[in-house]
Amino acid sequence: MINIGVLALQGAVREHVKALQAPDVNVIVVKKVEQLDEIDGLVFPGGESTTMRRLINLYGFYEPLKEFATKGNPIFGTCAGAILMATEIVGQTEPHLSIMDMTVERNAFGRQRESFEALLSMEGVGEDVEGVFIRAPIIETVGPGVKILSSYDGDIVAAQQGPFLACSFHPELTDDDRMHQYFVKIVREQQAIEA
Ligand code: GLN
Repeated sequence: MINIGVLALQGAVREHVKALQAPDVNVIVVKKVEQLDEIDGLVFPGGESTTMRRLINLYGFYEPLKEFATKGNPIFGTCAGAILMATEIVGQTEPHLSIMDMTVERNAFGRQRESFEALLSMEGVGEDVEGVFIRAPIIETVGPGVKILSSYDGDIVAAQQGPFLACSFHPELTDDDRMHQYFVKIVREQQAIEA
């Protein structure tokens, strides 16, 4: 059995819990720092990154989350969650958790396309992954250790650096759970390495 947490400070939590369901997966809604000790992987949901960061500080999650990542525990960030993971945010002097070597630009798809859906080809996941973009960030650039999994209109929208997975869109808002199951696979593989 593996335990995967969903950080439940703000944003869409229930949908992630549903998409992570698998026979040997126990999903934990993480509201307290101590719960990080119980989990093998963690999802940062979408929402609003500055609000989420404020709550991370308020509830004492900042250092424990950094430590969780430094230990190599898998993390999957969607939309605002990806912004939390980036080492650099365009127009901001400081990043948030600085977990994954990438530069993101918030709300980068422009006002006229604040929300839209697109079919994406995603390496290792599928050729027709449904992407729901809501005031989505673009992954502008990635570092050498980061693999680009998907681009849309020339912009990077999903990437992976070892156990860290990030996407601009909201896979939890569709019935297609392949992206989450891809993350479950990452967590399983990491467990196998550590065992
Ligand atoms: N625009 C939001 C932010 O900057 C992210 C939007 C989302 O998660 N749907 O945090």
